[in-house]
Amino acid sequence: MNDCIFCKIISNDIPSYKIYEDEHVIAFLDISQATPGHTLVIPKVHIRDIFELDEHLAAHCFAVATKLAKHIVPLVGATGVNIVNNSHEVAGQAVFHFHAHIVPRFDATNDGYNAHWHNNMHEYNQEQLQTLATTLYVANK
Ligand code: AMP
Ligand code: ZN
Repeated sequence: MNDCIFCKIISNDIPSYKIYEDEHVIAFLDISQATPGHTLVIPKVHIRDIFELDEHLAAHCFAVATKLAKHIVPLVGATGVNIVNNSHEVAGQAVFHFHAHIVPRFDATNDGYNAHWHNNMHEYNQEQLQTLATTLYVANK
């Protein structure tokens, strides 16, 4: 896709701080550096978001994110990591070429990244949770 900034990084039309490349993916420093070592893993083909990503390429992206997380975290002196994908505007996606964020974590409350969600359990009873689980259940074929 011509106007995709990440496709331009893949084709070297714009510069990046690349830290990994193989046949299917590249990884480079996120320009925002939410925390030191913040890295993006992207497929080399233009895929908009997780809804367009096939499971084999997803598995490879996650395998690379796992390998790089283990590599990056000790090198930057972090102790934890968040692996994050935002898919679609409602989830905060700003660049519409699939990417997995690797965000090294140094401090649970104050290191530049805030990853938490509300606990809404008070809005559910057991029957509602069972109905939800039944609706979402995936049979293992
Ligand atoms: P998201 O909100 O999940 O779509 O995240 C997009 C990310 O892309 C942001 O964290 C940006 O900092 C990052 N980003 C945008 N342009 C570039 C670029 N040219 N090089 C590296 N990272 C970028
Ligand atoms: Zn692209």
